[in-house]
Amino acid sequence: LSRLKKGLSKSSSRLTEGITGIFTKRKLDDAALEELEELLITADLGPTTAAKITAELARTRFGKEIGPEEVKTILAAEVAKIVEPVAKPLVIDPSLKPHVILVVGVNGTGKTTTIGKLARQFREEGRTVMLAAGDTFRAAAVSQLKIWGERTGCPVVAKDTGADAAGLAYEAVERARAEGVDVLLIDTAGRLQNKAGLMDELRKIVRVIKKVDPTAPHTTLLTLDATTGQNAHSQVEVFRDMVSVGGLILTKLDGSARGGVLVALAEKFKLPVHAIGVGEGVHDLRPFEAKTFARSLMG
Ligand code: GDP
Repeated sequence: LSRLKKGLSKSSSRLTEGITGIFTKRKLDDAALEELEELLITADLGPTTAAKITAELARTRFGKEIGPEEVKTILAAEVAKIVEPVAKPLVIDPSLKPHVILVVGVNGTGKTTTIGKLARQFREEGRTVMLAAGDTFRAAAVSQLKIWGERTGCPVVAKDTGADAAGLAYEAVERARAEGVDVLLIDTAGRLQNKAGLMDELRKIVRVIKKVDPTAPHTTLLTLDATTGQNAHSQVEVFRDMVSVGGLILTKLDGSARGGVLVALAEKFKLPVHAIGVGEGVHDLRPFEAKTFARSLMG
């Protein structure tokens, strides 16, 4: 809790300051509601969520005197209600060998790091894990993944830069299957500058994986960088058009003033949020827990 709370402190102090400014010894009138709605929008919760939350507050408290603490408690409860349905842990199917997880997302959003963190988590759960360096475009991505492989004790399937990503993914699934590995995590490229090229590449990976196992990939995760705020919305839309996104991982919730974006994403896309990143280290992946998040966001 404390790490998340600390991480979200910029988001929460922004909200707290705003709420205190609006609600110090004041009746809940239209002007106060309007100011609150604006504050929630600027805190990245999005217009729909902001309207919904303020309407709920108005329904029960309109015309009454209300202080900042009470407002925050009510808002936290409303936020928790919105994010609760998407707070779903990532479930590994033990009958699949391997359970194939494809990780997609724009470069820099934390794909490779998240794979490393997940690998460690699965290893600690006693599973065998293999990693595939499917971002064959960037040499740095391949070497980063190899480092994570060493750190977590997982074999890494990799090729030289420029190799065919789909071919590599195919080999990785075959090898993981031959070795009876529990989880295969596949890293991918995320060059959004060339959307058509990226779409072809990701779709080809999926097609080719299905030749080994028609039910794979069993999970497609999209990583989103919380610090990019509203950009995260368009990234969900772009990647949903390319592959069938099964769930989200919000990264960099530590130190971001834009943690509210998670609430807007939950409301808009209703995609499961499987975990959140709260730092660069191997232990900095947390299950996404609705009430804890809502409380931390509201300070
Ligand atoms: P990729 O290009 O999508 O594979 O992104 P990387 O995994 O290489 O991450 C990009 C940068 O973000 C790296 O410097 C990571 O250490 C950093 N990063 C990833 N996740 C988090 C997180 O949850 N918190 C913080 N503070 N940094 C993160």
